[in-house]
Order: sequence, then structure tokens, then C-alpha cells
Amino acid sequence: MATEFSIGIDLGGTKILAAIVNEKTGEIIAEVKNKTKKEKGEEKIAKILLDTIDELLATTEIKKEEIKSIGIGLAGQVDRKNGVLLNSPNINCQNLEVKKIVEEKFSIPTYIGNDVEVATIGEMTFGAGKGYSDLCCIFIGTGVGSSIVQDGKIRKGYTGSAGEIGHIIVDSNGRVCGCGGNGCLEAYASRSAIETRILGAIKKGRKSIITDLSKLKSISTKHIKQALDAHDEVVTSYVNEAIQYLGIGIASVMNFYNPELIILGGGLIQGIDEFYIQTIKSARAKSLPVCSNSTTFKKAELGDYSGVVGASLLRWRNK
Ligand SMILES: [Zn+2]
Repeated sequence: MATEFSIGIDLGGTKILAAIVNEKTGEIIAEVKNKTKKEKGEEKIAKILLDTIDELLATTEIKKEEIKSIGIGLAGQVDRKNGVLLNSPNINCQNLEVKKIVEEKFSIPTYIGNDVEVATIGEMTFGAGKGYSDLCCIFIGTGVGSSIVQDGKIRKGYTGSAGEIGHIIVDSNGRVCGCGGNGCLEAYASRSAIETRILGAIKKGRKSIITDLSKLKSISTKHIKQALDAHDEVVTSYVNEAIQYLGIGIASVMNFYNPELIILGGGLIQGIDEFYIQTIKSARAKSLPVCSNSTTFKKAELGDYSGVVGASLLRWRNK
């Protein structure tokens, strides 16, 4: 059979990554990355999406006619059937008719999915989840997202929002979460939660080398790693706190769902080995012995590309 190419796009609050992917092998043929940090609202997001696809097509000799589909993973709630991004606080969009807009311009069949869902498809097909049929993917980034795979299929839930591990309540009297609730895992264990806690402590007068490392503009995973390596007290305490809460959340998933495999991904997991190792240790210590002993943990293998690779395969998932 001839090689088939599709475009996969990962559109989030800080960047849009688009790639032409060989559907058979997951190989990236061409890619374009643009920033979306300042591009908020329906009009601007639609423009940067279309411009990025244009830019991508211009970088390759593969003709538009050879592209079988465009798949887009979006950070938000999606209506897969109609191709509409219903709501995304990250890019400040509501009811954006993604499928219609893209198909009108490029005349290529277009499919959409949630960002965690497409990353999971990528990992299941070409990454850490290959060969497993019951698993969970958990990504620790700006938020904490996850998806559940059962018998090789992603469980989307009745209204399509299954797998919201970030909003598992780990402390009923706890911190306010972005969803409006109290004590959600995301309010303790996401990269942004850790950042907020560190900045809050510094504001109150605690000393941390992260002040010099980051100039307090934005704290990156690299800065956090450097501070941990230097045994910085403030950073170490909030990272450890996040690991403890992640353990609670992941152990709850292990006890409830009993997956064969848990794939962990996202910047902190990919960038800080100790974070990955201690998170697993914390989850194993807090889960039931039968789950603790039987669950395999793996790091996401496609890194930044799990989303675009998975998105390029959406057409096979939407049959
Ligand atoms: Zn929440």
C-alpha cells in the first residue's frame, strides 16, 4: 500500500505545533511551530491555525492533494462530531467551528479531538502504549490531564469529558481550582500550581535561587531542575508537595480502574528524572497492594510529538 500522509496539529495555550506525518510509521516529514501565547479569541486563533497550515504546506514537496486528512488536538472541550471547539479557557475560545473553517480553506477532511486524547492516540500507536490495551495516560503540564484506554478504545464518557484526573479532589477544604471547585489535584500538582506556590513564598520574603535563575519572569522546568539540583529549600518543598498529591491522585486511579499501564508525560516528567521516579514511588505507596504490584509505569516516548502524531491519525478514530 502506498504511503499515506496526514497533517497533525497540536493547538494549545502557548504554542501550535503542526506536522506532516507518515501515517504508517509515525515519522514527521515536516513541521512548523508558532507561539499562541498572545493569540487569544476565536478570530485570532482561526487565523493562526490557517496560517500555520499554509506555512507547513509551503515547507514540503508533498502536494496538498496527497494529504489525506487534517487532525487537530485542542486544549479544551470539543464536539468531535461537528468539529467544534466548545470551550477553551487556555485560548479563550468558545464555539469555534474548527472543522468548517479548515475544510472551507483547504478542502481536506478535518477531524478534531481533545489534546490529551490525541497525545494518547500517538503514544498508543507509536510510543509507550504500543501493545497495551488497558492503560491511562497522565500529562502534567499547565494543568493535569489524563485519558483512559479500555480494550484499546479511549473512554470518552457520557458527555465526552471522562478522565479529568486534574479535578479529582485531594483535599475537600483545599485550594481553589481553576474549575471553581476546592482542593482539585491540578491546584497542587500542575506546573502552574507549583510556580504560583514558589512565587507566593518569595513574595512573602523566603529566599530561593529561582529568583536569580528565572528573573521571576516565568519559571521553566529547567529552572525548577536547577533549583532542585542545588537543594533549594523553597522549590524542593513545593515540588515534593506536588509529588505527594500526584501520588494520591494516581493511586486513586489505580485502585478504581486497575490499568495494566500508566504512561506519564508532560514537561516536569520529561525534564526531571527524579520527579518521574518519586511520583511513581508515591503512587505505589498509596495504592492497594494488588494495584501497586501489578501496574507498569512508563514515560511518554514521543515527547512533544505525541499530540501531532496522534492528531494525524484522528480520521481512523472517527469512523
Ligand atoms: Zn478543579
